[in-house]
Amino acid sequence: MSSLPLSGPRLGRRQLLKLGLGAGAAGLLPLAALQAETVATRARVVILGGGAAGMAMANRLAMRLNGARITVVEPRETHHYQPGWTLVASGVWEADRTTRPNTDFRPAGIGWVKGPAVGIDAGQRRITLADASTLEYDLLVIATGLQLNYHLIEGMSPELVGSHGIGSVYAGLEAASRTRDAIDAWLAQGGGQGLFTTPPTAIKCAGAPIKMTFTTLSRIKAASDRDAFKLDYFTPSDGMFSQPWISDFLKQRFDHEGITRHHGRHLSAIDPQARQAEFTARDGTTEVRDYDFLHVVPPMSAPDFVKASDLIARDGPFAGEWLDTDIHTLQHNRYPEVFGIGDVIGAPINKTAASVKAQAPVVEANIAAFLQGRQLPARHNGYTSCPLITDIGKAMLVEFGYDNDMAFLPSFSFIDPKEESWAAWVLKDYLLQPAYYAMLEGRV
Ligand SMILES: Cc1cc2nc3c(=O)[nH]c(=O)nc-3n(C[C@H](O)[C@H](O)[C@H](O)COP(=O)(O)OP(=O)(O)OC[C@H]3O[C@@H](n4cnc5c(N)ncnc54)[C@H](O)[C@@H]3O)c2cc1C
Repeated sequence: MSSLPLSGPRLGRRQLLKLGLGAGAAGLLPLAALQAETVATRARVVILGGGAAGMAMANRLAMRLNGARITVVEPRETHHYQPGWTLVASGVWEADRTTRPNTDFRPAGIGWVKGPAVGIDAGQRRITLADASTLEYDLLVIATGLQLNYHLIEGMSPELVGSHGIGSVYAGLEAASRTRDAIDAWLAQGGGQGLFTTPPTAIKCAGAPIKMTFTTLSRIKAASDRDAFKLDYFTPSDGMFSQPWISDFLKQRFDHEGITRHHGRHLSAIDPQARQAEFTARDGTTEVRDYDFLHVVPPMSAPDFVKASDLIARDGPFAGEWLDTDIHTLQHNRYPEVFGIGDVIGAPINKTAASVKAQAPVVEANIAAFLQGRQLPARHNGYTSCPLITDIGKAMLVEFGYDNDMAFLPSFSFIDPKEESWAAWVLKDYLLQPAYYAMLEGRV
């Protein structure tokens, strides 16, 4: 277990800059932008969701918009540091290292509705809340994150995580702890079949299913007879990861480690009592496999109430599933007073907290310009990043964007994105969390 402080150190801006955290490609605000003039406005601004993206936007807009009436709609009181869940599920972090009260980050002087939004009438610029009351807006920021669709896997529900050999790092903090317990139980069994899966949709932190495979392998090697354990990985795509070099690297690495890859197949049903999983191939044929441990990654989409609104994409690759925003300006493609940020938007890559950090200054600058009737000045380059854990104690810091075949966008001179290193692990284990909290506070 790590002996580091629960929430990590609070780094100053100078230290964050020195570390390169969020510099350049990673979206650190240039000082000039930080000192940007405030915009005087009486606009009613509603932010749906107060997670990574919503909290960062609340702080940024509270500082930038002078006189705006800002309301955040967020049902939770606790903020979850989701990037820590893979470390919890791998037995490296204690669970309480990943939570803090939302009040630690909430800016003063904004409204906070503690309950979910249930409807958006984009034509009337009106939000419906769970108690049937309504909120009108002049400017709307959609930052609801995404929805986990476990129900699309027949027989599966998040309550099963931790029993019947089932793990799923995505289902929440408790589920991450229960995933660790399910892996512990498999290790204690001394051998057997492990199945690791990814769904046929975009997912948040596309590296997490791979990290869970590698950390489990790492724990097997440390505790047991490697040859007694069989690991199989199922993915609906031909590759392993969206960045092409990393995809090829992972194929070789899986083969070298004896993890069998199955492409073009996804988990479609489970029978927990029998410990059997059904996989469906692209041609519709199915195959049933026995397992001792199964890592489930559910299909994901925008939340249902966003899908039911006119803000959802109508055509193209994100139709019916994701928010219809311009992938560079992050403004809605049909409703200019609506902006999207974070996991909910339709984009070819992203869905990481690292992307949120790069997107937040873009959304702030474009909202400020929009409210002043100016052209939108800022563009998101697609920056996303994954500290891809390849072993407990080793990681690769993979950073890339939309352009040039998703070429690397490295932030650190001392970390080679093509090399596994202890430095990248230290970054994941220790330094990224304070940088993340600084992002929530609107400081980077
Ligand atoms: C296992 C795992 C590992 C990850 N690892 C990494 C990593 O290593 N690096 C990285 O950069 N990213 C990682 N991520 C991804 C990262 O956590 C997300 O991309 C990030 O949190 C997205 O921010 P968001 O604000 O869009 O969504 P969230 O942070 O999920 O916040 C969405 C908020 O919206 C609220 N909400 C939902 N519905 C409603 C509603 N109806 N009304 C009002 N509010 C609502 C929710 O309560 C929530 O607080 C990981 C995620 C997971 C699950």
